[in-house]
Amino acid sequence: MIYLNGKFMPIEEACIPVLDRGFIFGDGIYEVIPAYSRKPFRLAKHLDRLQHSLDGIRLQNPFSNAEWKNLLEQVIAKNDGEDQYLYLHITRGVAKRDHAFPVNVPPTIFIMSNPLLPPPAELLVSGASAITAIDNRWIRCDVKAISLLPNVLLRQLAVDVHAIETILIRDGFLTEGAASNIFVVKDKVLLAPPKSHLMLPGITYDVILELAAANKIAHEIREISETEIRKADEILLTSSTKEIMPITLLDNNSVGNGKPGAMFTQLHALYQQYKATHMRGNASGDTEDL
Ligand code: PMP
Repeated sequence: MIYLNGKFMPIEEACIPVLDRGFIFGDGIYEVIPAYSRKPFRLAKHLDRLQHSLDGIRLQNPFSNAEWKNLLEQVIAKNDGEDQYLYLHITRGVAKRDHAFPVNVPPTIFIMSNPLLPPPAELLVSGASAITAIDNRWIRCDVKAISLLPNVLLRQLAVDVHAIETILIRDGFLTEGAASNIFVVKDKVLLAPPKSHLMLPGITYDVILELAAANKIAHEIREISETEIRKADEILLTSSTKEIMPITLLDNNSVGNGKPGAMFTQLHALYQQYKATHMRGNASGDTEDL
């Protein structure tokens, strides 16, 4: 069951007019929110990012955070599975085709849920492969825009060579993955690129850095050069649906000794513990101010 513009319905019955500006211009934003044991994970943070994306495209938030929470909980309740991921999508609505913003047009609001499966166990044991590419996206990558054509093309480069992700480099420095954030480990120090308009501020990225700080894991938030990526002891990928994964092959070269490293093992265990705390209902960042 999905939610579309005030109604719940089976996805097969959901329709939008062809003049929706999401369809015509890619004029909209989205969020992906995991729910574990039917509880949205880090909901307050996701709703903050949603507001940031809406502000970035000058679209008014149609709901308060309490209304979003209520709506998302209804979608979760109407779908199967203890663990789900919610996809939430808002466009600038339906109007005669014209680049300029339409006046007094209600937004299109769509929410769907899909089962949330953990990454395949064998990839956590053996590691996954990634490739690199030049980051040719726009310079508002902090906005979670539905116009994802560059990301689609960049991810397909990885799929074409049976890799799981394309790691993006802009002007000689790491930005992120086509649909993930990327960390590097060198000499037991976790390195994270600083948040900026050139990357999406990942919710999982924040959790990993909070866990590093709370567990006295040496870490630095700073620019990471392409050379440092290629000489890394470990490369880690994070996202809400993939959690944390080790990249052990980059452009066909082994990363470090070619096996998931100690930093991955420690952070993966801490992430699982953190999720368990969330399911018991006392993790930070879950529902504050909602
Ligand atoms: N960067 C990009 C470009 C993404 O698409 C995603 C996944 N939505 C991320 C980073 C990771 O963000 P999060 O941890 O919030 O899923």
